Amino acid sequence: MSYLKEKILKDGVVLNNNVLKVDSFLNHQIDPTVLKEISNEFIEYFKEKEITKVMTIEASGIAPAILVASHLNVPMLFAKKTEPSTLSNEDQFSTNVHSFTKNKTSRVLVSKQYLGLDDKVLIIDDFLANGEAALGLIDLVEQAKAEVVGVGICVEKSFQPGHAKIEEKGVDIFSICRIASLENNEITFVEEGN
Ligand code: 5GP
Repeated sequence: MSYLKEKILKDGVVLNNNVLKVDSFLNHQIDPTVLKEISNEFIEYFKEKEITKVMTIEASGIAPAILVASHLNVPMLFAKKTEPSTLSNEDQFSTNVHSFTKNKTSRVLVSKQYLGLDDKVLIIDDFLANGEAALGLIDLVEQAKAEVVGVGICVEKSFQPGHAKIEEKGVDIFSICRIASLENNEITFVEEGN
């Protein structure tokens, strides 16, 4: 069993059958061993893709994304949830993302300066639920006419529709850890090979 799965079983906290809290090693306090393992798995899976940029959304995606970018020696770009006063509307790509955990929609944006035609972008995020964050990031890359080479997810909740929505877009998706259910406070993983 992977170190990430072991950590989830040992330290993950199930909230209301739908949300997994991983604040002790991924979302608040960060365990560097977990991050190293995660980034190694992403690199192994996406190594042939000639990635020029790793992209995520603030805040929780930043830690895994920066480690992957550091391995690949490419920049990491994160979509911002608040508009910097220094960036005018015409200088940004933006899209709306509905947050599953906060139940609110916010506009996320990146500067046009950092995303362009020649980019081959790997999208990384901590969790996948309904796919809103990943689809929002894909939208930003498409606005820049750059290419999405894949989506890498640390923890996928496979009982929610995000995975199918990303596959429908024809984008290669790889999740390190796939959760089949959080019912009755019990964490069940999707069986390997499924
Ligand atoms: P989605 O956009 O796929 O619906 O949700 C993904 C985003 O919501 C992630 O960026 C993550 O921050 C947050 N999220 C969704 N589900 C969970 C969860 O079960 N636990 C935690 N900690 N975050 C989640």
